[in-house]
Formats: sequence, C-alpha cells, structure tokens
Amino acid sequence: GAGLSVRSMPEWKKESYGKTVTFGQKSSLSLQEQRQSLPIYRLKNELIKAVHHNQVLVVIGETGSGKTTQVTQYLAEAGYTAGGKIVCTQPRRVAAESVAKRVAEEYGCRLGEEVGYCIRFDDHTGPDTVIKYMTDGMLLREIMVDRNLSGYSVVMLDEAHERTIYTDILFGLLKKLIRRRDDLKLIVTSATLDAEKFSGYFFDCNIFTIPGRTFPVEILYAKQPESDYMDAALITVLQIHMSAPKGDILLFLTGQEEIDHACSYLHEKMKKLGNDAPDLLIYAAYGALPSEMQSKIFEPTPPGKRKVVVATNIAEASITIDGIYYVVDPGFAKVNVYNPKRGLDSLVITPISQASAKQRAGRAGRTGPGKCYRLYTESAYRNEMPPTSTPEIQRINLGWTVLNMKAMGINELVAFDFMDPPAPQALTSAMEQLYSLGALDEEGLLTKLGRKMAEFPQEPPLSKMLLASVDLGCSDEIVTIIAMIQTGNVFYRPREKQTQADRKRGNFFQPEGDHITLLTMYQAWKAKQFSGPWCVENFLQISSLRRAQDVRKQLLEIMDRYRLDVVSAGNDLTKVRRAIAAGFFFNAAKKDPQGGYRTLADHQQVYIHPSSALFHQQPEWVIYNEIVMTSKEYMREVTAINPAWLVELAPRFYKSIDPAKMSKRKRQERLEPLHDRYNEPNSWRLSKRRG
Ligand code: ADP
Ligand code: MG
Repeated sequence: GAGLSVRSMPEWKKESYGKTVTFGQKSSLSLQEQRQSLPIYRLKNELIKAVHHNQVLVVIGETGSGKTTQVTQYLAEAGYTAGGKIVCTQPRRVAAESVAKRVAEEYGCRLGEEVGYCIRFDDHTGPDTVIKYMTDGMLLREIMVDRNLSGYSVVMLDEAHERTIYTDILFGLLKKLIRRRDDLKLIVTSATLDAEKFSGYFFDCNIFTIPGRTFPVEILYAKQPESDYMDAALITVLQIHMSAPKGDILLFLTGQEEIDHACSYLHEKMKKLGNDAPDLLIYAAYGALPSEMQSKIFEPTPPGKRKVVVATNIAEASITIDGIYYVVDPGFAKVNVYNPKRGLDSLVITPISQASAKQRAGRAGRTGPGKCYRLYTESAYRNEMPPTSTPEIQRINLGWTVLNMKAMGINELVAFDFMDPPAPQALTSAMEQLYSLGALDEEGLLTKLGRKMAEFPQEPPLSKMLLASVDLGCSDEIVTIIAMIQTGNVFYRPREKQTQADRKRGNFFQPEGDHITLLTMYQAWKAKQFSGPWCVENFLQISSLRRAQDVRKQLLEIMDRYRLDVVSAGNDLTKVRRAIAAGFFFNAAKKDPQGGYRTLADHQQVYIHPSSALFHQQPEWVIYNEIVMTSKEYMREVTAINPAWLVELAPRFYKSIDPAKMSKRKRQERLEPLHDRYNEPNSWRLSKRRG
C-alpha cells in the first residue's frame, strides 16, 4: 500500500454467520418506494391487527427493518391518533431527533407539525403533533406529571434492550398503568435476545417477529490481542480503503475525543496520500454532533468514493446507515459506571458484550455480504465478553432516580416492580447522597429542597448547586456554568493548530478555575452578540455554545416557573465558588505532598487534567466536576476552594456522616435506620403531606 505500512495489518481468523436473502438496492428509490421496500411493510396489516388484539406487544426484528420509523406511522394510519398521541421513546437524543426528521419527511409534514420530537432542553412538537418521538427520560418526566399519560393512545418503548434507567422505570410504571387504562396500547421493541424476558415481565404477552433480511457477514478475529486498539483500528480502516472492493466502512470507537482524533488522523493520512488513493469521505457520529452533520452521514456515497463513519455505540442499533459493507469493531464502549465506594459515576471504557458484538457485525450485512473485523481474539470473544450488558440500573448512581421516584410518590423503592432490581447497597448509597445534599431528611423523607431539586432534569448535585446559588445570590452565573458543563466539549483543537488553539484557550483562563473560565467564555461570547466568527477565531465550538445558550434558556424557564430569583454576583466570584462547593462537595480533593491530589471522600489519587486552567497553579484545595480515566485519573472542571466552606455547606457529609472517618460499627448504626425503612414501605412519606 502507498505509504500505509506503518505496521503490518493485524492477522485475521475467519468465521462466518448470518443467513442469505436477496434484497434490492434502494438508494435511488423514492421515499414511498423506500418505505415499501422495508421488511416490515409486508407485515403492516398483521401488525395493526396484532396491536388491535393485544394491549401489550413485544416487537422484534433486525435493525433497519423499519420498526422505529414505520410502526408509529402504521398505527396513525390505522386511526390510533383519534384517542391520543402515539409516542415512541428512544434512549438517545440524537436518535429521537434524526428519526423524527426522517418520519416527518416520509409523512409529508414539517418537523413539529404532525410529527415532532422532544428531548431534554429541546421541544419540537406543536398542537398538531400526533406522532411524537422523545427520549425515554422525557417520557419519564411526563409520567411524573400525569401518571395516566392521558394524552397518549400508544406508547412504544423502542430500543428497550438498551435498558436505560429511564426505560426500566417506565417498564414498572407502564406495567401498572396498562391495568388502569385498558385503552392504552404498549409496544416494546427489543433485540431478539431479550424478547422472552420482556414478554415474561409483561404478563407473558405475545411476541411479534419481523423476519430478518440480512446478508452473511464474515467475521475476522485478530490472531493476537491488540495492545492499542486505536492504532489497530486506523490501520484496518486504511487497509480496507486501499485494497477492499467497494462498500462503506463503519468504525466503532468509544467517544467524541477518540472519534475526533481518528477523523483528523484519517484526514491527514488521506491528504498525504493525495492522488495515490481513492477519495475517502470521513464522518464522525456521536451524540454532541450538530444535526447538519448528522444528516450528511445518511447521504448515499457518490460513485467511485468510499465513506467511513466513525461512530459511538449510537450506530450499533439506534441509527442505521445504508451501504456499510465493512465494520471495524475494537470491542469497547464507554459506559457510565457507578463506583459505590466513591459515591460517583464515571465514564469507563469497558469491553462490550457478545450481544453488542453481534449487533455491530450485523451492521455490515444490510446492503450486501459484508465483513466484520474484530480487533480482539476469538478466545476473548468467547471467554471474556459477557453474553449481554448489565442494565444501567445495576450500574449507575441512583441519586437522580431515587429523588425522582420519591417526588413521584413512589416510596416503596424496594417493592417497586423492577425488571432487574438495583442492588440494595446502591439504593442506600443514593439515599445517603441525597441526605448529604439536603434533599432527604434524617428519616429519608423528601425535603422541600429535594422537591425543588426534582424539578430540574439534571443530576442532584447540579440542582443543589443551582438552588444554593439562589440563596447565595449568584444564580445568574451558576445557570451559565451548568449550561456550559452540560454541553460537552466547548474547545475545538484541530491537530495542525494545536499550539495556536491552546494559546487562545489560555486567554480565557481564570485563576479561580475552570468553572469560572467557562463562565468568562460564555460572557465574552455574549458580549460579542453571540458571534459565530468570534468563536472560530477563538477555537470554540459554536454548536456547543449555542447548546449552552439553549440549556440556559430552559433552566431559566424552570426557575421562572418556580419563582426562583435570578441574581448576579457581580464581581464577587467567591459566592459562585461557594455555590459550586454546595453541590459538589463530594468531589473535593486536597493536594498530596507525594504528587497529585487525594480525594477527601476516599483518599484516591487523582490529578488535575492538563487542559485545566489550574494545571500550572495546583491550588491546595479543589473541587472537580467529574473524574475521567485515561492514562491517569484526571479531575475535569476544577475550581479552587476554601476548605472551611465544606463543613459549612455540607455539614451532614463532612461532620456527621463522613463514612471514611467512621468506624464500621458506627457506620452501621448510621446506615441501618435508613435501610430498615425500605422494608417498611408505609413509613416512607413525602414531606409534602406534612406541609
Ligand atoms: P429499525 O428501527 O427497525 O432499526 P428504522 O425504522 O430505524 O429501522 O429504519 C428503517 C430505514 O429508514 C433504514 O433503512 C434507515 O436507513 C432509514 N432511516 C432511518 N432514519 C433515517 C434518517 N434520519 N435519514 C435517512 N434514512 C433514515
Ligand atoms: Mg430502531
């Protein structure tokens, strides 16, 4: 290959699975023809009949068979919209948005008319909307307000096999609701593997199967374990591009940073190859991507060119890209994992399950016979990967969940009909977190503060920080900081201009830390009338800033609704730092003479991320927003604090219940009263009832 032999191609072992059925090309077909060529189309009437005769139905079928885009439209045609809206939930924001756009186009309306979507901080529905795509989290918020979901006639829990925490709670709530409302239809779509389990949970309901229509996919395993999957993945992609017959490539990586790196590496490589190589169109696909970019991914590749899509798990099942013949699967995904010892979630790069690996491979067999390059050994696949992934509810911090279930009046958490219940220890530790935040009282009852916190669609520490800022008189600043934190990466750091980008970023650095730096950045953008060219000049992602602007607006609306004052601290940034500490006191760390920092909660060694405004300053005491694990455990978004604030703002945590400082016996005394309450459902009451 022309200049590609950085290293030899990984060696492969072959295996084949999949069934062959013929399936015509469809890229040049009209929208209606495309709809009619989907596997589900032939079963339209049967499906409508099945929904008519069954209150609950589990629907399974290959990805791309038309479940997400067609079922809602079929049921609308069949008249179900007469009794209410048809709602279809998606675990991912991007999927809800992209699918709704597609369906609006097929339906022949503008987005937000008959077909719309609603995701956190972004509502595109209107008075005429009858088909509504939304994230499962948003439907959960709606059911909190209206336990009967009276505006809906059909609820479709799509991609239920993803088992997000929201879907899992919706399972329990909807299982109860369908007994109260016999006119409500419930459809649960899932991967084949879970169908029986889902049906068992929903009163042994019927399973509707859409026969698959896939081509065989040849599986190639690495002969030796790969020490660097990124390196192996990029080489594999380039090799495929240079030597394999036509067909697009899908590469799975774990997150935005990896994907951006891969894309710029590929761009650079292709530029160097110049005319020696055929054109390669390089696309990234991850959650935070602006929607214009997202729709580009679906466009058919022009003849003579090849497309590579570098994607997160989102391309595993939630979105379908036609024309993929080659899948490169390093075997990892980034998942949110709760560490009960540390009391926090962190995003951890974890090996995927066998079910995920099969699903990824399947993406290569939709248009023709494909190939899947697994960058791990066959033995790793068989012996090290779990058969299926652990549901989120058994993995993550339940703080938000417990708070919201309590706000919904679900007090008997242990008795709740979970499909897979969370560990009692995880519930206890969520309760403790909420207690330290002041959201629950000594007896585990929701406090007034807790009730207010539940109004915000964000993690409890963020809500606490916001509510504390109202009292401290700096909510204007804190709203901006929260918005900036939630929008992901604001900096743009192109490979060829890294030093320049870093210098520009350095200009924004504030001695108080990263939170204030983000605030300064937003305020500077605002002072420039939210200018686009200004962002480009300063290497800031305009899309992220715009999102921050949106989030800010939404938060202000909620605050307005609950008459929470929006006040500026003026020049008194101490107020702002105190508010940050009021929410994130769990994440405090002290400088360690041995190097780095030690967390106060559990004495773990952590470091300030090199991109931080405080990287050179290394103040004595800090608070961080999150830990990312790369080569080291890095603290992200760090602010310098005065340790005296901790005891003052979080006495429950730093005086009375610091578990690290408690003897085991004392700890049990502290925990057990909370624990016992679980077993006495009636003793859990909302503070609302007390006044
Ligand atoms: P399933 O839910 O069974 O996986 P979908 O209904 O999502 O299937 O997809 C059916 C077809 O619609 C696929 O061929 C897919 O490529 C196409 N499609 C879905 N979303 C979009 C979109 N945003 N743009 C273009 N095509 C899309
Ligand atoms: Mg789907």
